[in-house]
Amino acid sequence: MWHWLFTLLSIISFPDQELKEVVHTPPEFQMSLNEKINLSVKSPAVKYYYRVNNKGIELYASPNDWKYGRKESLIYYDESVLYNKIYYSLTINKVIDLYSKKGEQKFNPEKFGGLIIEPELFIFNSSSRPLEGLRVALDPGHFAGNVKEAIEEMRLARIRMPDKKVLEVFEAELTYTTALFLRDTLQKLGATVLMTRNKHGWTAFDKTFSQWIADDLTDAVIGDLREGYISQATANKLLISSNKRYIFKAFFHRYELHQRAKKINKFRPHLTLILHYNADSQNRRWDAQGNQYSTKNNYNMTFVPGAYIAGEMRYKEQRLNFARIVLSDQIERSIELSYFVGTRLNQRLGVDAYPANGKQYYLLKVANYTGFEGVYARNLALTRMINGPICYGETLFQDNVDEIKRLANKTLEIEGIKTSERVREVALGYFDGIMAFVNYKKVL
Ligand SMILES: [Zn+2]
Repeated sequence: MWHWLFTLLSIISFPDQELKEVVHTPPEFQMSLNEKINLSVKSPAVKYYYRVNNKGIELYASPNDWKYGRKESLIYYDESVLYNKIYYSLTINKVIDLYSKKGEQKFNPEKFGGLIIEPELFIFNSSSRPLEGLRVALDPGHFAGNVKEAIEEMRLARIRMPDKKVLEVFEAELTYTTALFLRDTLQKLGATVLMTRNKHGWTAFDKTFSQWIADDLTDAVIGDLREGYISQATANKLLISSNKRYIFKAFFHRYELHQRAKKINKFRPHLTLILHYNADSQNRRWDAQGNQYSTKNNYNMTFVPGAYIAGEMRYKEQRLNFARIVLSDQIERSIELSYFVGTRLNQRLGVDAYPANGKQYYLLKVANYTGFEGVYARNLALTRMINGPICYGETLFQDNVDEIKRLANKTLEIEGIKTSERVREVALGYFDGIMAFVNYKKVL
């Protein structure tokens, strides 16, 4: 009885635990299937693509199929571990193929014998290289290498200060330099680190956006047309367009995110951090020159898998990942990681977690609150497709009146790129979060 009560209390008190003092193995944080489904569904429309029964989760290709009971697939509870192992071991295209053939049959474990890759355990140790064996994937968001490209991918912050001075930063550079600082710190302690972008200005295809258009656009468009991801009309438009902003919006944005997810899953990390810098979505005032006015708001937030909205069960990849997310511990492990990363970023930066009653309206439409301050379920390509604990970080508001000053004050340099002390502090916040997480988990 007492043991039971103690376990319950320790689960409840988890968010406030002072982690440096943890000497025992904390309880595994678990959610029920219903809790995970509640967090994974944002719009009622999603409910017409699945049914839960006593055997497992039935998936449907359309609301019409749902109505007439024409199942696309049934993933059984007792094969969910194998399902997750298959996703871990094979490429997404192969998994889509297997999922299509499976239908209501169970996966035959014998067929996968030689294909299943068992993860290598990471054990946190107290040596001078405590992260030896830890595999960390870092995804620095966006790709611009200069202001012109930042405008093409719509990620330039050009902020008019109260004294009329204009300050400018772009997110792809902030995230890239953050990743460099973080990578170096992690590697010093023995970790193996993957970065999805390996050069300033490169996309996840290991070349610039312009170079990718010249080399790969045609094949990529034809391939996606064949797979049904784009229409013939869109394909035609893309193939003759020289408007980079259009190519980015209509095609490359989604296409490149899938490449990031593929790279990360192939690396088989113990944990993944997606690095972004946020902006105030309610700050929509510009001067006559197109400079944005600064905002007083400033928050940190993190995203974990879940919160599917209408239209996001359209493709097989989305449906098979929905089943994977609710049948695995993907959400719990990501909440744990995001809890540690988020709280450490708040401490390091002196910035509050985004409050539960916050006024960023898009979050009310697309995100589900996890119950942990600043941590939200949100169905982004990366939170959906990446396997293993994932924290999608949206740190501070670039357009905040104090932050833009700090970010634009480039007193540091890393790999020849000028950057700010503030970026280094963000990297340290992520680092603190990773250390607290591995110290809490001990084994990954
Ligand atoms: Zn971003």
